[in-house]
Amino acid sequence: MESMRLRDLVLELLWPSFCQQCQRLGPPLCRNCYNSLEFYFSQLFHQEMQKRFPKVHADQILVCARLSGGLALLLKNFKYHNARNLAPFLALLLHRHLLIPEADYLTFIPLHPRKLRQRGYNQCQEIALTLGKLLRLPVLNLLERPKYLSAQARVKSQQARLERLEGAFTLTAGAKEKISGQRILLLDDVLTTGATLNQAASVLKLAGAREIIGLVVASKAK
Ligand SMILES: [Zn+2]
Repeated sequence: MESMRLRDLVLELLWPSFCQQCQRLGPPLCRNCYNSLEFYFSQLFHQEMQKRFPKVHADQILVCARLSGGLALLLKNFKYHNARNLAPFLALLLHRHLLIPEADYLTFIPLHPRKLRQRGYNQCQEIALTLGKLLRLPVLNLLERPKYLSAQARVKSQQARLERLEGAFTLTAGAKEKISGQRILLLDDVLTTGATLNQAASVLKLAGAREIIGLVVASKAK
């Protein structure tokens, strides 16, 4: 119990802000709102994905919690309201609740350069940078998005979404040599259909990655 209190104190010192859901002063989610998060007991989304795609390229897909309540708010603010400082909290959430297997590298879903300019940061990269420190793993920028995609939220049907994702990812310069034979963690913030994660995993697999393990903060999918 002592360590719990110490951890809370550390959280408050690290984030002298307020709860994203109830505005209480303190960490990005206060104890009450944190306790109302729905963490997945079974984090394995591979079977769910198999129902949707002819081939699932990631070997495991671990999702932390349901996209609802305080977590949905937190992720929305993190993505759209210039709240880069929420990244360490989300990284800690993944580190605490996911059973993350050993791996060689950690990488993340990239943003198209135009979106990156608009937003100022890639939310997945920000989480990955802290999570990499917690896991003591190198964080590599292995993928890029050369083709501009309009906001996914506006693309209604899954078929349309899949078509838009066709060829969405390519390898960054020098990535291929690093990928070959490696077990790689691939971080995404929100899993909707899983098309994005699947496409990114397929590019890494095609480049010779031995194993891809998707790490996702939240999903509504299950
Ligand atoms: Zn709260």
